[in-house]
Amino acid sequence: MSDLRNRYWNTRVQSLSPYIPGEQPRDRKFVKLNTNENPYPPSPAVIEAIVKAAGDDLRRYPDPACTELRQTIAARYGVKPDQVFAGNGSDEVLAFAFGAFFASGLPGGRGDTDKAARPALFPDITYSFYPVYAGLWDVPYRRVPVRADFSINYEDYLKPSGGVIIPNPNAPTGRPLPAAELLTIAQYLEDYHDDDTRESGRVIIVDEAYSAFGAESLLPYIDAHPNLLTVHTLSKMGSLAGLRVGFAIGDAVLIEGLCRMRDSFNSYPVDRLAQAGAAAAIADTAYYDAVTAKVIATRDRVTAALTAMGFEVLPSAANFIFIRHPEKTGAEFFTILRDRGILARHFNHDRIADFLRVSIGTDDEMDVFLDECRKTAAGADQ
Ligand SMILES: *Cc1c(COP(=O)(O)O)cnc(C)c1O
Repeated sequence: MSDLRNRYWNTRVQSLSPYIPGEQPRDRKFVKLNTNENPYPPSPAVIEAIVKAAGDDLRRYPDPACTELRQTIAARYGVKPDQVFAGNGSDEVLAFAFGAFFASGLPGGRGDTDKAARPALFPDITYSFYPVYAGLWDVPYRRVPVRADFSINYEDYLKPSGGVIIPNPNAPTGRPLPAAELLTIAQYLEDYHDDDTRESGRVIIVDEAYSAFGAESLLPYIDAHPNLLTVHTLSKMGSLAGLRVGFAIGDAVLIEGLCRMRDSFNSYPVDRLAQAGAAAAIADTAYYDAVTAKVIATRDRVTAALTAMGFEVLPSAANFIFIRHPEKTGAEFFTILRDRGILARHFNHDRIADFLRVSIGTDDEMDVFLDECRKTAAGADQ
């Protein structure tokens, strides 16, 4: 049956291996700790702004440049509006960035003369969408192994490449990197020149999806590093996974590259409601600072409780934790939790098969989760 459809697929679509998102159950009510959504609602100012935008103006296209949203982001983070790009979730921003900045295996792929393009580098344990974007744009890539404790050795990235992408903190481990180490990579890539291939200058993308929960943001350094693109999302920190707004901040030349990608694809990826809601979220720092502090406090409490029960818990700078059951495999632990109405995320990857990624929910949700952990660690599930 799929053969019949395959006949109509070109080689590009046949060769794709799409990302598989975490389950969004519709039939049963779970304690949902599997996709790192924020357990708290968005700021009331966001709802107000969206309701206000939901009027007759919807017959008009939205502002393709997201002018007000970008001005709000620029004011909030102390940058210029032309250093900001807004997109339909940071997934879209990342997809554009892969297509725009990493050396491509396609004819005309940047700077690679007649030689094979150099691979982009990212950690072997990281956001599993990266290899998918690379596949979409024919970007060759190499996964750089993280250390046994899942930390990233920045020195592994000080070598010729087609560019680098690293989340800070990394996902799904939650481990952060010091800003200085990422900046060392940025400087290396900026200075990089290969006489042989005439390649010079590469981009580093730092995916800051979770940086609000404890990693050092690289935003203060974008003026000093024209090859540094930071990528952000309102899905986690902003409690707005359903609105689909992400943004990038970096040198105006990088932003222009992203605009060229967008305008070759869809000039209006951020709709009117999303632009209005996102701007209200960015402006309400007091609300979100309080929400973020609550999530961090819960994370630290849950980490201590699990450690006391004998679980291994990686130190997390994110709104999730990466944990290993004292006896069960990750798949077993996942199933035990699921049977008891708790959804976590298990990745079928050799090095992390014994781990589960658990998003930080409300205190009540995490108490339900901790109760079940206590029971299974004590063997009460047998
Ligand atoms: C969730 C996530 C994103 C995507 O966020 P959206 O804005 O919802 O598309 C990007 N990068 C990482 C590392 C994430 O975990």
